[in-house]
Amino acid sequence: MDFMASEGAMRKSQVTEAASYLIRMGASRWFEHSIPQFKSIHPTSLYFLTMCSQSSLVARRKTAVVLGLAYGGAKAAKVLAAGLPADWRLIAIDRNSHMNHVYVMPRFAVLPGHEYKAFIPNTNVFGEGDTRKPNHITLKTTVTSIQPTHITVSDAFPELGIHSKEIAFDYAIYALGANLPAPLDLWGKDPREAVKPGDEKVWTYNGTKSDGIAWLQERQKAIEAAPTVLVVGGGALGIQFATDIKAIYPEKEVTLLHSRKQLLPRFDREMHDEIRKTMELQEIDLILGERLDLSTVDEEKKVVNAQGQRVVRTEKGREIAADLLLLCTGQRANTKMLEEMDAATINPENGRAFIQRTMQLTTSPPIDSLTTTFDKSVSVSNGAPGDSGNGSSTYTNIFVAGDAADAFGAIQAGHTAWGQAIVAANNVVTLVTKPGEELEEYTSGIPSIKVSLGITKSVYHSRGTFGIKDDGVADLRAASMWGVYEAKAESDEDLRL
Ligand SMILES: Cc1cc2nc3c(=O)[nH]c(=O)nc-3n(C[C@H](O)[C@H](O)[C@H](O)COP(=O)(O)OP(=O)(O)OC[C@H]3O[C@@H](n4cnc5c(N)ncnc54)[C@H](O)[C@@H]3O)c2cc1C
Repeated sequence: MDFMASEGAMRKSQVTEAASYLIRMGASRWFEHSIPQFKSIHPTSLYFLTMCSQSSLVARRKTAVVLGLAYGGAKAAKVLAAGLPADWRLIAIDRNSHMNHVYVMPRFAVLPGHEYKAFIPNTNVFGEGDTRKPNHITLKTTVTSIQPTHITVSDAFPELGIHSKEIAFDYAIYALGANLPAPLDLWGKDPREAVKPGDEKVWTYNGTKSDGIAWLQERQKAIEAAPTVLVVGGGALGIQFATDIKAIYPEKEVTLLHSRKQLLPRFDREMHDEIRKTMELQEIDLILGERLDLSTVDEEKKVVNAQGQRVVRTEKGREIAADLLLLCTGQRANTKMLEEMDAATINPENGRAFIQRTMQLTTSPPIDSLTTTFDKSVSVSNGAPGDSGNGSSTYTNIFVAGDAADAFGAIQAGHTAWGQAIVAANNVVTLVTKPGEELEEYTSGIPSIKVSLGITKSVYHSRGTFGIKDDGVADLRAASMWGVYEAKAESDEDLRL
């Protein structure tokens, strides 16, 4: 049976024929599973459902989608482009026109002049340059939902043969990462702290490079204008913000408040000690072991002192006043759409998606994953989650990589997203080209990190070894990441594209 009908072009007779085929093939079981309100399916309902899920039929058109094109997704797109058969359609989607290189954003939100280097064109994301295949497509649009057989996006692209906002897939790699904390959340609130009279225009952000540059420039202005800054959260972002602000504006009073006694507790104590020493030298006021009382951050209960400073309180009752509050906490995995599809796929403890070691989405992760082998009997043809045999279900055609994945203790990092994406994409290629062959399994490595402490100094922990460097530069060598994403970065002009 051929389901190669183009999207939106399926006639009623074809749909009816397809519907009866789906019944013969047991698709009603899938409908029952995925659409609980239709437990028993009347033929009329089935016709309706089939119309609604044309995309599930179009899934036989052999399409792989990559959702999110940053550290994880971009790598997945490249591996798939190289490994999928020539007749496969590969659609890579991101709401941003450029890959946002977030490592450098705290610096560029403080130090003017380098913003453009943080936005890397995704024009060569498949790594094919001028030889890009016509069926390898990038879309700048927002993914709004995912189901086992199709995704929904904000826009159709008829000029690219994508006539519907529903895009069917055979395989999906979900790499939508995490929402950034407020001081770096470009898709979040207005970056302006104070909107001057006469400049009340509503701030809009559409995920373009120029929007991103403007956003960072507004953050720079807000930081420059604040004599006192309170940074909340002693993770890498908070540390980098505090030390950069003090390095660039030594006259400012900067406080870093952290709820734990140790900074970066996943790493050796030496990291904490060195960061603390640097902060002392910079005269950053470091408050450890005190949690911010979040009710004092509530805009409606906002307290302002006589100097116009915002006053917040810790849970121990300490009051801190500052002109600018940078809340570097609360990073959340971007898994809402997976949760809407199947809430059991989300780890309630951290909001990340459960996966098998193969990076396939599941409702409960393997206990001893390295000995768990992929259940080759599970069919992916209709996108139905397969029964893993222990009461859990695995969506064998949906892979999750990067910050969205609960990846066996891996830290949320660009390099781990990259490694997970390779495993996910290799497994998709294996399922397509060598069905029945064993799939790769992911194992997280030893956590590694490098954190800048002002413009030149940094501390790192790599492969279990702690070290200090003093070779940093103002733009954090942002251009080196461009090469990783196959974007030309030979001149300053290239970096402005
Ligand atoms: C300030 C900072 C510094 C860091 N420094 C380092 C470092 O030095 N080294 C390191 O290894 N890691 C670092 N990290 C961590 C690293 O950035 C993340 O772990 C990494 O970004 C995860 O990659 P990802 O591909 O999973 O997701 P993300 O990078 O979050 O990418 C997700 C992509 O999905 C897109 N997207 C999201 N929702 C939608 C939607 N609905 N529709 C369409 N597209 C969507 C986004 O636009 C984005 O492009 C840093 C993080 C921060 C915040």
